[in-house]
This record gives sequence, structure tokens and C-alpha cells, in this order.
Amino acid sequence: MRRHPSMVPAGVWRHTAGCGTVGSRERLPGMETDLLYLRDAYLAEVDAEVIDVDPDTRRLALDRTVFYPTGGGQPHDTGTLADHPVVDVRKEGGLVWHTVGGEAPLPGRGATVHGTLDWDRRHQLMRTHSALHVLCGVIWNRWGVPVTGGNMEPLSARMDFEFDPLPEGFKEEVERLVADEIAADRPIEVSFLPRDTALDDADLIRTKVNLIPESVREIRVVDIVGCDKQADGGTHVRSTGEVGGVRVVKTESKGKGNKRLRIEVIDAR
Ligand SMILES: [Zn+2]
Repeated sequence: MRRHPSMVPAGVWRHTAGCGTVGSRERLPGMETDLLYLRDAYLAEVDAEVIDVDPDTRRLALDRTVFYPTGGGQPHDTGTLADHPVVDVRKEGGLVWHTVGGEAPLPGRGATVHGTLDWDRRHQLMRTHSALHVLCGVIWNRWGVPVTGGNMEPLSARMDFEFDPLPEGFKEEVERLVADEIAADRPIEVSFLPRDTALDDADLIRTKVNLIPESVREIRVVDIVGCDKQADGGTHVRSTGEVGGVRVVKTESKGKGNKRLRIEVIDAR
């Protein structure tokens, strides 16, 4: 949750093979995928150019994408790309690679392709990811306890906190606090801060922005205004009301100073 691979700067693709002429259908050195989902999580479709193809693994790299690649506890998106089902999305260096299923021939480098997200699933992941940040916020604001890790699926998630032990009546109280934040319908704002500005922010320091590699000069910040603020590369809803509701399904001890919460995101009551 805390440090998303997608915040790590895109590595520069090095043109090593054949170092001679770069033809118009070859990927240019330094070409990277524009990660549209970082600026607008509500884009469900894209027209993009294929900048590289790996026919053996049936993977396509695009000049821009709306598909979120697995990272930061959030699973990759699914959908269709050039009418092929998208079965995996990964970010490697500066490129997002989309693995497609089926056996139909793949478009070539330079082709323009249309991609469409499975929007219902993505929106569920956005609600779930935002729910986890609300959870981080209320647990920090009420008990001063930091998160140690987490993972999510559409509408369900787990998150680990440094509690030892869990406070009395914890489950009911945390559910009530989360419900209050959802009822307040707090705006969720995404911004991009220069690294030095981010390092001056107490909330971002608390959530370990300083652990993001030095080479990352611009930090993406997700601010649930008045509740939780952290460096984050995931996709979020616009306000806490859109989360719906959150139920704490289970709490488990994972050892000293590590307690696991399992949550479900439900429709608004
Ligand atoms: Zn996150």
C-alpha cells in the first residue's frame, strides 16, 4: 500500500540491440507508456499506439494506457485490447505490458488499438482501494497505529496494523469510524508534488514518503481531505461517499505487533 511500484520512475529503455538505424516501426530509445490512470482514474477506454510486441508471450506495450498494472497491493485491470481479452498487465521499467489471451494474430508495432476496461471490476477496485486508505486514516487518527501491509481484490481486502493487542471493542469502533468518514463524503484529491515539498509534509513523512527512491522527483499524493494523506500510485474514487460501506469481516493476530483486518466493501446502506 505504501510504496507503489508505479511511483518509481519509468526506467529509460536502452537501445542496445543493433544500435544502428531506428526504423519507423521500431521502438525509439526512451519511449515510455503514459500512465493515464494516474491522472484520471475514470478513463475506461483508450486509443493507443502499439510501441512493442512480444508475440511469444502475447504481450503488447502501448504509448499510453488506462490499464492499471499489478502493484501497490492493487491487482491489474482486465478488459479488452484490440478485441483480445486482457489477462495480465505489468509495468517493467517505463513500459506497461498487456498480456492478451486467445490465439488471434496480434497487431504489429505502430498499429493503433482500442482498449476498454472491465469498468465494473475496476470501479470495485477503486472503491476498495479508497476504503483501505480511509481505514489507514481512522486507525492512525484514533489510535496512532501505522499500517504494515495490505492487499485487495474487488470488494474485499486485508490490511495489517501494528496493534498489540487489538483494543477492546475494536471491530465495532473501527466500523463506526469508517462509516462516519464515508457519511462525511470527504473529497479524495490526487496531486503531484515535487519531492522536496513532499518531504516537508508531516503526513507524507509518517507514511514513509522518504523511502521512495531518491531518483523519483515528483511524488503522487492521494489526499482524503481531513482523513488520510499518503504517497500512492493506485486508482481511487472521487469522494468517500462513493465507497459505499465497509464491514470488518474478521480480525486475526499475525504475531506480536501485527494484527490483520479483513474487510468487505458493500453497497451504500
Ligand atoms: Zn494505496
